[in-house]
Amino acid sequence: MAWRSALLIDPVASDDRRGDFADTFRPFDPEQPALRVGDLSAQRGDGIFESLGVIDGHPQEVGAHLDRLVHSARLCDLPTPHLGQWRAAIARVAADAGAGENVMKLLLSRGVEGQPVPTAWITLASAPDNTRSRHEGIDVVTLDRGHALDVPARAPWLQLGAKTLSYAVNMAAIREAHRRGADDAVFVTSDGFVLEAPTATVLLRTGRRFVTPEPSAGILHGTTQLSVFSYLEGRGFDTAYETVPRATLVEADAAWLLSSVRLAAPVTAVDGAPKTVDRALTDEMNAYLLSPRD
Ligand code: PLP
Repeated sequence: MAWRSALLIDPVASDDRRGDFADTFRPFDPEQPALRVGDLSAQRGDGIFESLGVIDGHPQEVGAHLDRLVHSARLCDLPTPHLGQWRAAIARVAADAGAGENVMKLLLSRGVEGQPVPTAWITLASAPDNTRSRHEGIDVVTLDRGHALDVPARAPWLQLGAKTLSYAVNMAAIREAHRRGADDAVFVTSDGFVLEAPTATVLLRTGRRFVTPEPSAGILHGTTQLSVFSYLEGRGFDTAYETVPRATLVEADAAWLLSSVRLAAPVTAVDGAPKTVDRALTDEMNAYLLSPRD
């Protein structure tokens, strides 16, 4: 990992009225220890995060990522992040990015055990080279998420729509996909509906209509998908959020996995069944996603 920058943030209350937050920021060396061993992010994976692309120094879709950070904080009973403070911190870290593609992580944990102050920090590192996934595509396998479609509504304490730091299951799913000879996974519910990939949103095209699974199904509302929907609507395509049976994933004319850093990766096969890649549209989508977006 080629680190570029890191900043600890002393979180202020969401209604703090100061105009300058510089004295609440402390740069640190990402190669050196920075968190206390009692931090609940390390002890319990208890916290939330965001990953955003920084392209030629421009942090992409900051507003949408902060909206989701606030949403995750609410689902996890964490103090509401101060948007002005986070925007100032993001701008400060992005200034270290330089040319090319970088990934910025915003992290907010419940803090050190027994102390009621959350820990907040930002890191910036160079992004992996995603050219191959964007151009040649990825094949996916479907994996059972182990719960039915109605579980997020019945069991909100599972925090299923929050972007929490507990990503061990997501990483295990990607390893399982690799063991099965695929590049990535798509989670499906135990009653057979498409959810999301471990680190991406599913987008399907049938004719001129684009569909993504309903975010209320306990999945993340993807910032990349939101941006792609407005791009596609601007080009006259129809877009919709729907409950998507697994068969629709297999039968759709084309499919993509969308995420902030890899961007639009076309799906070349689902569980071994080949899919046609719409190369021209994929290239156009990625050119749009690589352009500066606010
Ligand atoms: N779903 C999950 C589980 C993710 O981890 C991510 C991104 O990391 C996404 C969807 C896509 O979200 P975004 O487009 O905001 O990166």
